[in-house]
Amino acid sequence: MLSDNKTEITPTEITLHGRAKINLTLDVTGRRDDGYHTVKMVMQSVALHDDIRVVVTRGEKKPRGIVLSCNLPYLPRDERNLAYRAAELFYQKTGALLETCEIYIEKRIPVAAGLAGGSTDAAAVLRALNALHETGLTDDELCEMGLKLGADVPYCLRGGTMLAEGIGEELTALPPMPHCWVVLCKPPFGVSTKEVYDEIDAVELKDRPDTAGMIRALENSDFSGVCKRLSNVMERVTATKRRQIGEIKACLEENGADGTLMSGSGPTVYGLFSDEGRARTASKMLSRRFVDTFLTETV
Ligand code: ATP
Repeated sequence: MLSDNKTEITPTEITLHGRAKINLTLDVTGRRDDGYHTVKMVMQSVALHDDIRVVVTRGEKKPRGIVLSCNLPYLPRDERNLAYRAAELFYQKTGALLETCEIYIEKRIPVAAGLAGGSTDAAAVLRALNALHETGLTDDELCEMGLKLGADVPYCLRGGTMLAEGIGEELTALPPMPHCWVVLCKPPFGVSTKEVYDEIDAVELKDRPDTAGMIRALENSDFSGVCKRLSNVMERVTATKRRQIGEIKACLEENGADGTLMSGSGPTVYGLFSDEGRARTASKMLSRRFVDTFLTETV
């Protein structure tokens, strides 16, 4: 029993993994009147993740609203952070009572890398708040909310192996990709997704991905078929300007990658390996030159 002059302070918390994604294919199919590009892409989650801890506290004398902190000091902690915006949107849309909502992000996914790092943090915050406030939103409702934050957020809410169409929000679950090791390597420059799209608009796209063939390979659990069909229309645009993309691909191939590709709008390049030892060696070689090199696996 609490005495009259004490307030009951009840924090509840949850920690979720926000996983990175890679693109097995990425095709740009058109442009809508509102300027958004339509895409067709096969996405895959990998084990590399950020940790997102959300703590909701009720009953404090001075509720503090949304408070975000992160191990990377250069990431914004206010509404410029997608995870912060996810919390804001959640409280706005659900009417759940906002007193103090603390979000701690332990980032491991490289930033502005083509791995959906911000989107996956936002997706984790939506899931965490739905659980903590017992708002009972369905996956479809969470995805609808997530789409307001970014085109990759609905995919990040679901994860796994998915075909994404529309602007990225029309999701179809695909058979899981055969397990493999993934070496991710981000060269030391950022890429502006908008600039890559602007360039895509200016060139005629060649070597379009065989999305139907990729889906067939997944249906047949055909790992080499998957590797043969890795394809991203954005890779050529970025690779012509940045020789490191080609150099990383070459290093991965020399060390036994079964397939290589740039993920999303880049600049991260990945290699798929059926053999863990070869993946380890490739990762070691690349990490001598590129600090943002990670050995991970499909999930
Ligand atoms: P995508 O693959 O969806 O295009 P990305 O991996 O290329 O995303 P992000 O890591 O999401 O890119 O970062 C893009 C920008 O978003 C960065 O400039 C960063 O400052 C900003 N940002 C906002 N919130 C976050 C967050 N929680 N994590 C990482 N970046 C964030």
